[in-house]
Amino acid sequence: MRENFDVVVVGGGPGGSVCASRLRQGGARVVVLEKERFPRFHLGESLLPQSLPVLEAIGVLDKVEATFIQKYGARFHDDALGRKDRFSFDGAWKNDRDHAFEVPRDLFDQMLLEHAQELGADVRQNWVVTGAVREGERVVGVLAKAPDGSDARFDARYVVDASGRDALFARASRSTEKIVDLDQTAIFTHYEGVARQPGKLEGDIDIVIFRESKSARPNWFWIIPFKDGRTSVGAVVSRAWIKAHRAKLDAAMIEKAGDDVSALFRMAVDESPSATALLGDARMIWPRAKAAADFSYRVTTLSGEGWIAIGDAGGFIDPLFSTGTHVAMCGAKSAAETLLGLLAPAGDADEAAKLAAWETALKTGAETFILAVQAFYAGPLMEQIFSPEKHSAIRRSITSLLAGDVFTDSVWLRDTRLRLKEWAAAPAPHAIEATH
Ligand SMILES: Cc1cc2nc3c(=O)[nH]c(=O)nc-3n(C[C@H](O)[C@H](O)[C@H](O)COP(=O)(O)OP(=O)(O)OC[C@H]3O[C@@H](n4cnc5c(N)ncnc54)[C@H](O)[C@@H]3O)c2cc1C
Repeated sequence: MRENFDVVVVGGGPGGSVCASRLRQGGARVVVLEKERFPRFHLGESLLPQSLPVLEAIGVLDKVEATFIQKYGARFHDDALGRKDRFSFDGAWKNDRDHAFEVPRDLFDQMLLEHAQELGADVRQNWVVTGAVREGERVVGVLAKAPDGSDARFDARYVVDASGRDALFARASRSTEKIVDLDQTAIFTHYEGVARQPGKLEGDIDIVIFRESKSARPNWFWIIPFKDGRTSVGAVVSRAWIKAHRAKLDAAMIEKAGDDVSALFRMAVDESPSATALLGDARMIWPRAKAAADFSYRVTTLSGEGWIAIGDAGGFIDPLFSTGTHVAMCGAKSAAETLLGLLAPAGDADEAAKLAAWETALKTGAETFILAVQAFYAGPLMEQIFSPEKHSAIRRSITSLLAGDVFTDSVWLRDTRLRLKEWAAAPAPHAIEATH
């Protein structure tokens, strides 16, 4: 079977769905090929306020607003020193959006995919894209397996790789790079019965930092409340933590928890007084905890002749600041707008320059989050987050990062990037300790 579209989108996650929706608003003929059948579980449940303009632009914000719990801020807890601070999104430099949402991704992703379909995208689930079709250097389509196992070919003027961490194009061309010193593992599950804060605070995300000593590398928990009473809980720990704690596991601990991953999750909770207090008597509702390892990587090239890669297919870094879905959706919208320009009559005259401009803008924003994560693990950003004496401008800038305001040009952002660069380069306390 052989079909023809203006654009083939590989993957129906938030990146793929936003891109397809925006392309449809511009009149492009779009097919979305998604290998799974939705709804399906996915990590990435806490969204950022500056994603709201994207959801609004594609016309899905009202549905999202009506379905999910509002998140007005982020609370940080430091177990080692008993410190806490809350950042309320209305304190950001650009505070036109004072909330985001906490979303079970099975529901959120399905809502976005159905929205793309309502806008006229041809959405096909259980279709697996197996590779790109090229004419010389140019990508001119994809090969795919249909649900019945038959082979199909889709010709298109552009292919959008929105395949998430499968990163179809980047892995095929070996253009992914591991990020040194960010070999974290997440161990996660869902709870019910976690006590909520009152009123508008009920949708806050809690980030709990725990470590073996004040100078040890920070590990952390996310605690994300959903509207239906469930709560997502995950521990993000270093490879060294996993190794050390695996060595302490015994048969009784594994049997009690159900398996080794669940036993490690239990140990992380027990090690963190704040997580233990926040979870109280709540009950884990998954039979077992799950794990994801080594999720951070960069991708060197995000576009080329006839193709563009968005979201996790273009790289992913530690979820500390809940940035992945935001980067995916912002990049998807700007990618779609770039492609609509290229699809217009004679619009592809300067294709390389237009794709390069899109890529530079996206990378500049995303790189800010990478610096923030590095500055956190190095120590200085974590100290600023918890410092009771932080300057009000620093508070605003941290809040703006937490709100996701990295894709515009502004004085505070340029200043913050310089500061983060310096902080990220600082030797981490745990690194200094290790050399002595
Ligand atoms: C531990 C952890 C915690 C996280 N927490 C957060 C958080 O709190 N907030 C946040 O914003 N982000 C978080 N993220 C990141 C978030 O999960 C991703 O950044 C986000 O899902 C990216 O969206 P996407 O559309 O690029 O990819 P995805 O959501 O992964 O969607 C890609 C889709 O492509 C499909 N696909 C893959 N290969 C093929 C193929 N060959 N053919 C057809 N379809 C294919 C997949 O089935 C999938 O549905 C977290 C990530 C991790 C690892």
